[in-house]
Amino acid sequence: MSNTDWIQQELESLQAQGLYNRIRIIGSPQGAWLIVDGKRALNFCSNNYLGLANHPALTAAAKKATDEFGIGPAAVRSIAGTMTLHVELEKRLAAFKGVESVITFQSGFTANLATIPALVGKEDVIFSDRLNHASIIDGARLSGAKIIPYEHNDVSSLEEQIKTNLSQYRRALIVTDGVFSMDGDIAPLPAIYEVAKKYDILLMVDDAHGEGVLGNGGRGIVDHFGLHGKVDVEVGTMSKAFGVVGGVVAGKSVIIDWLRQRGRPFLFSSAVSVPDAAACLAAIDLLEDSTQLVDKLWANSKYFKAEMKTLGFNTGVSETPITPVMLGEAKLAQQFSRELFDEGVFAMAIGFPTVAQGKARIRVMISAAHSREDLDKGLEAFAKVGKKLGLVG
Ligand SMILES: *Cc1c(COP(=O)(O)O)cnc(C)c1O
Repeated sequence: MSNTDWIQQELESLQAQGLYNRIRIIGSPQGAWLIVDGKRALNFCSNNYLGLANHPALTAAAKKATDEFGIGPAAVRSIAGTMTLHVELEKRLAAFKGVESVITFQSGFTANLATIPALVGKEDVIFSDRLNHASIIDGARLSGAKIIPYEHNDVSSLEEQIKTNLSQYRRALIVTDGVFSMDGDIAPLPAIYEVAKKYDILLMVDDAHGEGVLGNGGRGIVDHFGLHGKVDVEVGTMSKAFGVVGGVVAGKSVIIDWLRQRGRPFLFSSAVSVPDAAACLAAIDLLEDSTQLVDKLWANSKYFKAEMKTLGFNTGVSETPITPVMLGEAKLAQQFSRELFDEGVFAMAIGFPTVAQGKARIRVMISAAHSREDLDKGLEAFAKVGKKLGLVG
């Protein structure tokens, strides 16, 4: 007997259920094609929506900044001072997104951990979409506020929960993902805003999968719906479409100032490194220059989804480049993923607890980096494996 036996048993149980996550190893830069576990494969996995993760403009900017400023920020910004690059990045992001002010964090995850506990506490209530991202859930738990989930994308459920519960609390926050990462559907933000306004509640959206994807030239969900100045807090990430790493919180100056005083991951953890900040600045340059990459992303997504439907696959309720291929049981999804890999296509199976039991799927992430030929190669593999497993005719 050892004190870690229970962990071994849990791991074995995950394996038996087909839920054990074996992480593949990437031996190449990100792009339409990868070297995965030593083998060349078409990349249908990453959040590299615009192909910026290995874009020459970003790598050049990172190298140049490294020559000038080195690598690490070497301390927390609020204690040892903040580098010009990080300040410039926040100014440029604010201009790009059309908000008063922006604060950046190490990641989208820490942006949520910083923001929610700064806005609500023990005497308060959070109305949270049932399918919100883990980092929202963790941020909400950290805050100590009462968490009241409402049905996914259901504004009448939200309003019902508000009516029943609001009066028992000091303050409230409504929080939702912008784009839901497992299904690719979009939050009904204009209707949520109307409810927030009606009850005078702070509104926060986490647009990690909308940043660089939705809105004019990738300006995000608030721009997509024309809600400028109406959503109090917009969280984003630079690890997805921006191709780098880092979290973003955009909004009114008063809120951003408050996060600089009270956002714990800002106060107690160092900023992203110099090459990260410089590469993010280069990404903004590209997005402000042209909508070409965003347009290509959407054209690719529309093509792939339409062809998958023609083949007989169920791509769920997606309205974005996230393309779930609904399969049901986790074991089937894992088998499908393995067969795809044998066909030279890297697309991961996603099962419980990331999605509900019985809703396992392959999630295909479309990118502007894909050529039409790449997409056709992927479609061919899906058709072949789907037929082999008796899922499509
Ligand atoms: C990916 C994601 C995050 C985390 O972003 P990172 O920058 O990778 O930490 C947060 N929220 C949502 C909704 C996400 O999809």
